[in-house]
Amino acid sequence: MVNNPDVITRVAPAPTGYLHLGHVANALYVWRDARARNGRVLLRIEDHDRERCRPAFEDALLEDLAWLGFEADEPAVRQSDRGALYANVAAQLAQQGLLYGCTCTRRKVHEAWVQGSAEVRYVGACRNASHALSDGVGWRVRMPDDEVRFEDRWCGPQVQVPAQQCGDLLIRDRLGNWTYQFVATVDDHLQGITDVIRGRDLLDSTGRQILLGRLIGRPVPATFAHHALIMKSPTQKLSKSDRDTGIRDLRAAGWSRDQVLAEAGTLCGFSL
Ligand code: GLU
Ligand code: ZN
Repeated sequence: MVNNPDVITRVAPAPTGYLHLGHVANALYVWRDARARNGRVLLRIEDHDRERCRPAFEDALLEDLAWLGFEADEPAVRQSDRGALYANVAAQLAQQGLLYGCTCTRRKVHEAWVQGSAEVRYVGACRNASHALSDGVGWRVRMPDDEVRFEDRWCGPQVQVPAQQCGDLLIRDRLGNWTYQFVATVDDHLQGITDVIRGRDLLDSTGRQILLGRLIGRPVPATFAHHALIMKSPTQKLSKSDRDTGIRDLRAAGWSRDQVLAEAGTLCGFSL
């Protein structure tokens, strides 16, 4: 029975490829946790990147999830239908003087990468350049220097300083695509997501999403729970191009729903 409006979580696949065992494992974590707390699960199609997403992948993701029996508690939401909402939030940031235009090429930004650091930090070259927020330039948010502390339900206490990790966040790229960090933060806020349950590859993104959430009007963040990634081998992540773990391919090879779920469960260490 779904009756606890205090717990709302989501699965948020990007239709840039087919569903694979890593997605199924994430779905198991999400539905198990939500059901154990009588919470709700929303399904969000993260198709913000118009260059990489394909409607055919979306159809396939939805069909595979339905075949596996994962049923969301509300109709799926698609980010490409939400442009007006994102533009509205961006306009509010601009009004507060928190947005600026950035003309740096990807190459220029990457040149600032410091050997040994986990990611590329934008050093703020355009912060005071007063480039108009127009098409053809990136839009960045001035990130405060704040240290962000949060307690991950599964990874424990975390301290992150987004200004040092990534610098000013890109929210819209030069081609007009909204970025993952922005739309995930906006949607988690507007959809009232109380619990974000996702893989550990996104743990480092959490501090910046909490900070950006504050800037767009969410003083109290969601609770976060990052689970171990399902690995193909001890050093290799699963990827959408690995045909051996694609649900389409397993189905074509004659696997049943229960076999796929059991395989994903084994990879998570669950007994189903
Ligand atoms: N769309 C992201 C992905 O497929 C998930 C983002 C999230 O859970 O915050 O990796
Ligand atoms: Zn720049």
